Amino acid sequence: MQLELLRQRIIERIDAQSTQLQEIALKLHAHPEIGGEEYFAQELLCTYAAQQGFEVNKGLAGVPTSFSATRKSGEGAKVAFLAEYDALPEVGHACGHNLIAMASTAAALGLASVLDSVGGEVTLFGTPSEETNGAKVPMAAAGLFDTYDAALIVHPGGRTCVDASSLALDAIEFTFLGKPAHAAGAPHEGINALDAVISLFNNLNALRQHLTSDVRIHGIITEGGVAPNIVPERAVARFYFRAAERSYLNEVVEKARNVARGAALATGCRLEMRNFELSFDNLRSNRLLAATFKGHLEALGVSDIEPPSKSMGSTDMGNVSHVAPAIHPSMRIGPRTLVSHTHEFCQAAATPEAVAAMLTAAKAMALTGLDVLTNPELRQQIRDEFLAAR
Ligand SMILES: [Zn+2]
Ligand SMILES: [Zn+2]
Repeated sequence: MQLELLRQRIIERIDAQSTQLQEIALKLHAHPEIGGEEYFAQELLCTYAAQQGFEVNKGLAGVPTSFSATRKSGEGAKVAFLAEYDALPEVGHACGHNLIAMASTAAALGLASVLDSVGGEVTLFGTPSEETNGAKVPMAAAGLFDTYDAALIVHPGGRTCVDASSLALDAIEFTFLGKPAHAAGAPHEGINALDAVISLFNNLNALRQHLTSDVRIHGIITEGGVAPNIVPERAVARFYFRAAERSYLNEVVEKARNVARGAALATGCRLEMRNFELSFDNLRSNRLLAATFKGHLEALGVSDIEPPSKSMGSTDMGNVSHVAPAIHPSMRIGPRTLVSHTHEFCQAAATPEAVAAMLTAAKAMALTGLDVLTNPELRQQIRDEFLAAR
């Protein structure tokens, strides 16, 4: 069948389901669940996907609220659409993940409607806890995305931008263990763990000067002693380290570990270090896949696509982008001044304008997926770019 007819069919399929899809977005919005507790969202999305003929599996990679919903026809390439659906405490769906869930569901539905004509496999992955302990990290580590030719997700925001990037992130906790003593009566008997933490901060600040400008280091002291007249026996600091590339971040973190070791040596403390949250890899947006998506977005009438900006955040989609060709564009759903994680964003995430914008994004996602399924040359070029970046 002609490509143009297949495209038409995808768009018609998403349009025909737009009322149900909008209902999904609004129900999720009215019922916000924080990371790890997204059982209502999982049930809603899985029930709908099953009704649409997808084969559903829940609880992947040890994450209870994750799922996959797959449609397959004959042999062919594989495309994944990733849904997020966690909300934030207090401010609800102030990151618009209800819209991400809707858009990825719509894209999977649209692309699945032509599978019998083109062959291949479409999976909607439910990926919980993006805001906290990103489930894409264990899901990627378990190899769930390895066999996919493309993995797509679109995030709502105040700007439409196709080539997103994000920083690799490590979360390290430094615990220094000293020896208590009367701080005035017998200070020479004590080993001051707080001094070690202060030395850690000062020497990390000295280290900053000799790191590339993409690096972000920011920390807090979570324990710093119990009373001024007791030499602090135990002091703890938690830091986030971020950099544009995972390989460089690994170097930075090793330098930071050495700084901590130096602080322990200088003060006589014992040192323990651990990762207190999951590590995120930097987002490597596949340029060719992004360009294909952009072409479809423009053909669908979206004209306000802005040039790439360097994001200083981090996302678990980064880990997916290291195991499969991936994109993570953002789509404008309201005023340009929209800032995520605010009450204003939460309100914007339930407007008809936002739903319409994200359904347009969903169509571009599905049409990009169609290109991946039907164009082996494009598929290979996307794969080559992905492998070259590794
Ligand atoms: Zn967020
Ligand atoms: Zn978000």
